[in-house]
Amino acid sequence: MKIIFATGNKSKLREIREIMAGTGYEIITAEEAGIISEPEETGSNFEENALIKARAVFNETDRSAIVMADDSGLCIDHLGGEQGELGIHSARFMGHDTSYDIKNAEILKRMEDVPDEGRGARFVCAVAVILPSGSEITVRESMTGRVAYEASGNNGFGYDPIFYLPEFGKTSADISPEAKNLISHRGKALRHMRAVLSEAGV
Ligand code: IMP
Repeated sequence: MKIIFATGNKSKLREIREIMAGTGYEIITAEEAGIISEPEETGSNFEENALIKARAVFNETDRSAIVMADDSGLCIDHLGGEQGELGIHSARFMGHDTSYDIKNAEILKRMEDVPDEGRGARFVCAVAVILPSGSEITVRESMTGRVAYEASGNNGFGYDPIFYLPEFGKTSADISPEAKNLISHRGKALRHMRAVLSEAGV
């Protein structure tokens, strides 16, 4: 079975292919399927935005493949959590085209005087699937940590260099991609979805 993944983000795609390796699904991007779609993410939570992305691609297919999309973000308690400045708006924080070095430096500056107990944060990922029948499924998972005091690490992408994982004593950009996939919001959400699909016999 083919899964068309509605993302143009190469880092996400790499993680998704690693996680789905060995499942028998062939993962292709919407672009590889000849579909260009960039719908506006107008939903009020991660699930709604993932469904908006999945529906935009599904409507362009011949309904022979599964369409999958994810929506994710960094929810920082001190900056309003899921509905805050980042949260569901994480990709748009300070503008789409601003580099993550600049975004991360700005977050660290805003958190300068906040002690450990106020630095709680979590990455959240919702994965949405639309089956060839048109049925829609969503799952959500998260990875809990804290905002670091300084950026560190070259693995991962986006906000990883400032996301501190107390159990590792490192940021999610310092740990290996394999270690991150085991504990990450996206890794957990994709494995959850993989289990749901397999239970449904898809
Ligand atoms: P999306 O592509 O609309 O889901 O937006 C995701 C946003 O959250 C982007 O700004 C990403 O940089 C950020 N994000 C999501 N997952 C991760 C992650 O695993 N590491 C770092 N940043 C992430």
